[in-house]
Amino acid sequence: MDKAVSSGMIDSAEQLLERLREKEVLLSPLEEAYIRETDKKYRLRISEYYFNLIDWDDPECPIRMQCIPDGAELEDISGYSEDPLHEKDYEAVPFLIHKYRSRAAFMCSNFCYMHCRHCTRKNTVMNEEICTKDALPAALEYIKEHTEINDILITGGDPLSLPLETLEYYIAGFRSVPSVNTIRIGTRVLAADPGQITDELCDMLEKYHPLWLFTQFNHPKEVTKEAAEAANRLLRRGIPLGNQSVLLKGINDDADTLVELYTKLIGIRVRPYYLYLCDRVLGTAHFATDYTVGVELIEALRYRLPGYAVPKFIIDADGKHGGKVTIERNHVLKETSDYLLLQGDSEDSVTKFYR
Ligand SMILES: *Cc1c(COP(=O)(O)O)cnc(C)c1O
Repeated sequence: MDKAVSSGMIDSAEQLLERLREKEVLLSPLEEAYIRETDKKYRLRISEYYFNLIDWDDPECPIRMQCIPDGAELEDISGYSEDPLHEKDYEAVPFLIHKYRSRAAFMCSNFCYMHCRHCTRKNTVMNEEICTKDALPAALEYIKEHTEINDILITGGDPLSLPLETLEYYIAGFRSVPSVNTIRIGTRVLAADPGQITDELCDMLEKYHPLWLFTQFNHPKEVTKEAAEAANRLLRRGIPLGNQSVLLKGINDDADTLVELYTKLIGIRVRPYYLYLCDRVLGTAHFATDYTVGVELIEALRYRLPGYAVPKFIIDADGKHGGKVTIERNHVLKETSDYLLLQGDSEDSVTKFYR
């Protein structure tokens, strides 16, 4: 928690309301009440950096919508649940999720520099037990026994919020397993608080190649000069950068916004990797779009962007139905009002996705 204090962040409803009064931002009594109420269930946190990107003259500011709570988060909507991806069912040993044969995810932290209002793990990670160094030996033992695992995703929470020495302990541990080829770090920090990417951090990461870093930019306004500089610090150490966006209603669900986002990203050498359909996570329904929106958008992007700037559009159809699936127009084998049958990623697999 030391880092939270030192980097300066807005960490409670009262702090946020105080800052808004300073900025003379007018909220209705209802909006104020929503901020207080949502903070009780889904803790509010905004880095100082991200807060300063908000345009207060625009009530639909895409930065604002991603970090300021909305009363809609408290609505209980059928079809939405706390853990629709069933990550808990795939926890092989504490904090290690083995859902896809060749790769495993290690949830090393449940702290983030900002709590995205659309977070897939908003009902789980923050309320759970915190990973400590004591969890590593069992994870390593499991990975050594499962030599089919050759890629480790270190995620959370935000792994880059850990003390450098703790993060290095985990990375060095995974690197010591001969069957592990690549190590990936999943972090939102390039968008949420790029100043956290220090030279010291990059010097440490560089020792453990092949190491990749995947981040999450959802809107061109997030691709700032500071973000570009942070990306450059990583790239100079030979760390390839990828981006996983989430398709969010009212934020990036139109072709012009995505074209601008992906043009800016390849301009700072961050390669678009995935665009996710928003998962059915309780508290995020107001960001959801139909899958057809994503399919059409990707088609439009193909004409307007270099091939390597177009991400794959992904639905996470939960583990029992195939997990992540790439979805394109010609992958839909059958469509009813309840479900889709999708061509899976391997030759004759078929995936059922409930709409
Ligand atoms: C997404 C994910 C991965 C990595 O999947 P890729 O398709 O290889 O990027 C690994 N483990 C879990 C649990 C995941 O959710």
